[in-house]
Amino acid sequence: MAKPAYNLDGTGGSCAFCGKPVNPSHNYCDWDCQVGHAKQLGGRVLAPNGLPIRCVTRDNVMLEHPHGDHPTYKWPVKVQYIGPVTADERSDAEHLYGLSASATDEEVRGAMGETHALVYYDEDVAVTLYDCSQAVWDVKTGELRTSSLWKHGHWKLVSIERPVTAPSQA
Ligand SMILES: [Zn+2]
Repeated sequence: MAKPAYNLDGTGGSCAFCGKPVNPSHNYCDWDCQVGHAKQLGGRVLAPNGLPIRCVTRDNVMLEHPHGDHPTYKWPVKVQYIGPVTADERSDAEHLYGLSASATDEEVRGAMGETHALVYYDEDVAVTLYDCSQAVWDVKTGELRTSSLWKHGHWKLVSIERPVTAPSQA
C-alpha cells in the first residue's frame, strides 16, 4: 500500500515534502517544507512585493499575506495596539504569544501588533483587511476611522509605506 501523502490520519509520521520523520500529528518538518510541497504540486506564487510566503491556501496558492489574493491588494502594513493593557490583554499575550507574566505593558502591546493587507489608500484614508474584516484609517494620523472589529483609540496604523523587508507575521 502506498504511503499516504499526508499524515492527517495519524499513521504517517514523515514529512510530505522531504520525507524526514515528523511528529505524526504534523504534515511537514517546518514552514519551508510546506511551501516546498506547494511549489512541487505546481502551486502559484502570488507575492507582488517579493516578500516571503506567509500563507498557503488549500489549492496551493502561496501568498505573502493571507489577503494577498484580494483584487486590489497592495502590500502588508503594520497595525499597533495602543490601548490599555488590562488583565485580558495580559492573558492573551501570555497564552497566545508566549509572553511571561512579568512582561511590561509595552511588551504586551508589541506582541499584539497585527499585519494587515493594504487594499486601498488615497491622501485621506487607507483601507486594510485582516481576518476577513475591514478597517478604515486616517492616513495622516494613523487613527482608526471605521471598523467593526477594532476599537477606536485602541489601534493605530503605523504607516502605509511599502515594506522593503518582510514584516513579522502577526
Ligand atoms: Zn520536510
